[in-house]
Amino acid sequence: DIPVIAIDGPSGSGKGTITQMVARRLGYHLLDSGALYRLTALAAQRQGIGIADIDGLVRVAGKLDVAFLPTPPGEPARVLMGGDDVTADIRTETCGENASRVAAIQAVRDALLQRQRDFRQAPGLVADGRDMGTVIFPDAPVKIFLTASAEERAERRYRQLLDAGVDVSIDALLEEIRARDDRDMNRASAPLRPADDAQVIDSTGLSIEEVLEKVMAAAGQ
Ligand code: C5P
Repeated sequence: DIPVIAIDGPSGSGKGTITQMVARRLGYHLLDSGALYRLTALAAQRQGIGIADIDGLVRVAGKLDVAFLPTPPGEPARVLMGGDDVTADIRTETCGENASRVAAIQAVRDALLQRQRDFRQAPGLVADGRDMGTVIFPDAPVKIFLTASAEERAERRYRQLLDAGVDVSIDALLEEIRARDDRDMNRASAPLRPADDAQVIDSTGLSIEEVLEKVMAAAGQ
């Protein structure tokens, strides 16, 4: 059996960074499942397919032509869609919002299920998402649920954006994060929650290195 480390949690919990670091340390493959929902939202938008057109969205999700290209440590993976570099396009707040709407549709989730399971390849996989431990890899031997207070997550996002030269109000970010949490936790399809056998790690007040050590320990490494 090919090992899977499932890392779930709300947006801004540091999952993305931690997943990358764990994958690099162990030499495992990486699944950024959120990117698949973002790509579905972006492709739909570009093809003029609205949120009400479920058949259209399912078709888009089923036909996504994506490639994740490796990058130097610390840099996010480059994402190609139909050969186009969409790395920056899928990281906008708007795309995140749209992704979260598209992700609330069960038929879209079903259309992306097998594609996600196909990432499970030797020597192992670190999977980042909301339902890795509950739905996609329920048999994963290691399940981690990474959280942080909404305030801390807003603060982290604020600093990221500032580094990228974008100045926004932290209060607006906090409000967005709360709205996204609310939608992700209260939707009918695969609501965000820890798997029964997940180890919950709260990263509030911890450095990335401290979180990484906790996650590695939880993974028995
Ligand atoms: O993690 P990321 O912010 O890229 O995910 C974008 C959106 O996709 C999330 O807000 C969530 O609604 C959705 N998502 C999901 N299931 C996953 C990963 C992401 O529903 N496994």
